[in-house]
Amino acid sequence: MMLNSSKRAIIPILLLCSLLSSCAAPTRKAPVDAGPLAVHRQNVYHTVAPGETLWRISQMYAVAPDTIQRVNRITDANSVNIGTRLYIPGAVPRRHVITLYPNRKWKYIIIHHSGTETGSSQMFNEAHIRRGWGGIGYHFVIDNGTAGKDDGQIETSPRWIQQLDGAHCKASSMNEKGIGICLVGNFSNGRPSRAQMDSLVYLVNTLREYYGIPKSRILGHGDVPGANTECPGTRFPWHKFMARLK
Ligand SMILES: [Zn+2]
Repeated sequence: MMLNSSKRAIIPILLLCSLLSSCAAPTRKAPVDAGPLAVHRQNVYHTVAPGETLWRISQMYAVAPDTIQRVNRITDANSVNIGTRLYIPGAVPRRHVITLYPNRKWKYIIIHHSGTETGSSQMFNEAHIRRGWGGIGYHFVIDNGTAGKDDGQIETSPRWIQQLDGAHCKASSMNEKGIGICLVGNFSNGRPSRAQMDSLVYLVNTLREYYGIPKSRILGHGDVPGANTECPGTRFPWHKFMARLK
């Protein structure tokens, strides 16, 4: 989807505005280490997740998109398949890349757990396609170190990049006004990791600051009127989480 100039995405961590879509890469090169402290760079591999473009991956690792394209011999930069394993030379430790889009419809943030011990955006995408939901139903996934992902890694789904309604909470029409965040894990049995909670606090603070969402509109799935579920789990540390929000 192409976005016009009135729909610019904002990436808070990088303070960089760019025309952004799943198929268009900005002409501006990814910033490289400009800080006073030396950043340890190393060669890493990255498996392409749903919605990820060369540009988005370049922002994660501070490596220019054309470098990634060249060393991986990618002929069409606009079509990199999900599941492709890319070699990223000289990468910085992976950074969160949260894109924000002007949109008045986001009034709530709904927190979920996956109810599974393992998972990733790619796994949920495949599962939700099989259910006929048109791909992953959440807007963001926070990984737990399984399925080839890092503990606390924030994955942005195509549904967020395209600013589509969710497919995560039918009750109270939340799919149309609620940003859906899923933490991988089953929090009726266990608890989210420290890294997952740190990432959740960062993501929720970023979103609620930008969209003006009050704490009272940050809900667990099961707290949505009409929802009949334990999600995000009876052991999810809700009070601690709320206390950490700005
Ligand atoms: Zn849920």
